Amino acid sequence: MEVHCAGCAGCCMDWTALLDDYEADRTRQRGRFADASDSDSDSTSDNTENERRPPFDDDANFVPLTRDEVRTFLDRGMAAAMTPRFWRARDEHEAVEIDGQQVAAIADRPVFFVGLRKPPKPVAPFGRAEPNWLPTCVFLDPTTLQCRIHGDEHFPSECGAYPAHNLELGHETECERVEAAFGGDRLLDDRLSDDELGDGPLLGSQAIGEKLFCHPQPDDLTGVVDRLETGHLRPEDRAECIAVASASSPGTLAISEHHYETGKTQAMEAMPSAGGGDSGNSAPDSASWVGPAIDEWHERYDTAACDDDDSVSSPDLAVTVEEDHGAPETPGWEEGELE
Ligand code: SF4
Repeated sequence: MEVHCAGCAGCCMDWTALLDDYEADRTRQRGRFADASDSDSDSTSDNTENERRPPFDDDANFVPLTRDEVRTFLDRGMAAAMTPRFWRARDEHEAVEIDGQQVAAIADRPVFFVGLRKPPKPVAPFGRAEPNWLPTCVFLDPTTLQCRIHGDEHFPSECGAYPAHNLELGHETECERVEAAFGGDRLLDDRLSDDELGDGPLLGSQAIGEKLFCHPQPDDLTGVVDRLETGHLRPEDRAECIAVASASSPGTLAISEHHYETGKTQAMEAMPSAGGGDSGNSAPDSASWVGPAIDEWHERYDTAACDDDDSVSSPDLAVTVEEDHGAPETPGWEEGELE
């Protein structure tokens, strides 16, 4: 497999806003990664929409994390980088009702992923001359369109494997979608080596407790599904789900009370005062650059939305918003790589 990523980062942001409405809808429905809605053993790429389980959020490129990755981000004071994803149930037999919605569940426990947040950032991918505010991974440097944690020990395994899992499952890759929408060559070689095949994507029952988490108390999620759907998730909503994920055990529905309590405390301590899509609760300052940067991006996006001044929408703002808070720099691309 060989991909040409310079100037792209299409798999690290939700660029559906750059498409017309019809294409945007199709792109959202397909999603970036093999999702829980694809996780039945009989899943195939030609599933009809009726057989799928649409998520309550609208992130077309959600990046799910493993339990160990959730714990690592928690330990690093980066809980603010994470957010849950729940799905609509396919039918009433697999559903629990929360906020009047049929939520996909296993053994009456709502199932969810924990993944990376995408605050709005000004980015100019695919050779575009002007930046647009797009939901962009918290770890993507908008100036270079490179990942700030690439090669780091907490680089998500899902990102490291992309787009191999899609190729393995016969799903369209983000690289091919970018090629179709904006031209250029992104997926240069779609043949997978033995190393890239690896253990394959973690799907279905084998993902329980490892990547697909089960909340033991659906009543504790009252309000969360509503807020997730409307984009107004609160820090404590995220902290609750992050804590359950961190307390999960691979292959079982068991939750460790000790890990849950520890995870909840760590998560709440790392959530800075909420801004942007959050709704106003405050918590002690995070030791990490992540939480303050997310809040500042939301504030700057709100300012830019009611201001025509282009200078408030430059990718170069990342120096102030992210690096001045402690974000690691990215090296940039070599001359010629961006052609
Ligand atoms: S962690 Fe890095 S590679 Fe993964 S989506 Fe975010 S910016 Fe992209």
